Amino acid sequence: MPFRLSQRTIVTRIIATLTVSGIVGYLFGNTFLALSLASLALLIWNYNHLFKLMDWLWQGKSIAPPQADGLWGRIYDGLYHRIRKQRQKQKQLNERIRKFRDGAEALPDAALVLSTELTILWGNKKASQLIGIRWPGDVGQRIDNLIRFPEFAKYLDDGNYESPCVIISPVNSEQQLELRMMAYGSDQILLLARDISKLQRLEEMRRDFVANVSHELKTPLTVVRGYVEMVQASGSDLEPHWQKAFSTIETQVSRMDRLVEQLLVLSRVENNVEDDNLQPVNLSRLILTIVEDVQWLNQDKNHVINDDIAPEITIIGNEHELKSACMNLISNAIAYTPENGSIKVSLTSDGNKVRFSVKDNGPGIKPEHVNRITERFFRVDKSRSRNTGGSGLGLAIVKHVLNHHNAELAIESEWNKGSEFIIYFTLKNKQ
Ligand code: ADP
Repeated sequence: MPFRLSQRTIVTRIIATLTVSGIVGYLFGNTFLALSLASLALLIWNYNHLFKLMDWLWQGKSIAPPQADGLWGRIYDGLYHRIRKQRQKQKQLNERIRKFRDGAEALPDAALVLSTELTILWGNKKASQLIGIRWPGDVGQRIDNLIRFPEFAKYLDDGNYESPCVIISPVNSEQQLELRMMAYGSDQILLLARDISKLQRLEEMRRDFVANVSHELKTPLTVVRGYVEMVQASGSDLEPHWQKAFSTIETQVSRMDRLVEQLLVLSRVENNVEDDNLQPVNLSRLILTIVEDVQWLNQDKNHVINDDIAPEITIIGNEHELKSACMNLISNAIAYTPENGSIKVSLTSDGNKVRFSVKDNGPGIKPEHVNRITERFFRVDKSRSRNTGGSGLGLAIVKHVLNHHNAELAIESEWNKGSEFIIYFTLKNKQ
């Protein structure tokens, strides 16, 4: 129960004590002596408890304070009450920390808690297995002193923790780790690392499989196409239903050939993650050539194709890949815009940004499809896409090419009004 003592009560008690001792002194004929003795007794009593308190605070081993009656007893009770409350809070806090640690230990990933200065505060067991953090030896060390990879240094420099950073494990060079960093509490950072070697191997196998199958399909397709063309060439004496059958075979073989061709391009672009083929590419000239080349695609559609290409814009990149990406956007605009449409191709630069845009007044893309449109094999309208010879791989190729070129794709589209596909290249200093 809380105990309250006002200043007035204290003053009243002192006055009462002094009055009683004054009266007693008066009765015995020495008021001054009685008052002095009473004051001295009060002082000794208070000092005695002060010493006891000091002794208990600094030397005492028990949490229970000394025993006393009256005012000092209340003070000791108050202190004891506070200590117990503090202990209870500490216990709850310890329990929470224990639960957090148990949770973090149960994680299949390495977890490190860092300060905002990137020094290690805590790590789970997996962190020592995957990253080689020694516990508690490495506490207080900066994480970039322990993970010394240029990719990680760049990741920290960029400070964009939304996407992960992939590094080789400092403990095992055969292991690949995906690191993610995120704000944790108000002044801490949580670093999570997971082993993605298996996923990477599976992804590699998938890529190799697609590349090999596509490659292996090329020869039989060429043979079938050759025979079909041979039969068609001598086909005047064929019965009409055979002529129709061979024409259908020829159309389907051509479709399959295009699909295999695109699959091969996609796997080439996916596998070509090294910068070995990068060189200055005159983007202005490249796009003008593409605009000229696509005129034959436009013969049936009869679109008006305008271009506004700023001269001599050069970027560092892979010419083959860049051509494939720009060509895909322009040929999509031609294919998906109904006849007699209008298409505008432009290339501009502003500071270290280069903007390439293909705008059409075609059917547009519904907002719910815009995010998925760059997924491989995604087609908004399968039958319409099939008629245009589409495979659903064009924009996936564009996306991979842009990944290699420090570039981004933006899609602005209004249903039934048209679409604009924009590529933003960011020039590096050396460009
Ligand atoms: P595809 O080979 O089928 O053209 P893409 O990956 O190039 O594959 O395009 C995916 C889908 O995006 C297409 O099937 C089409 O529905 C849609 N699309 C692409 N470009 C446009 C455009 N300019 N206008 C409308 N739809 C488009």
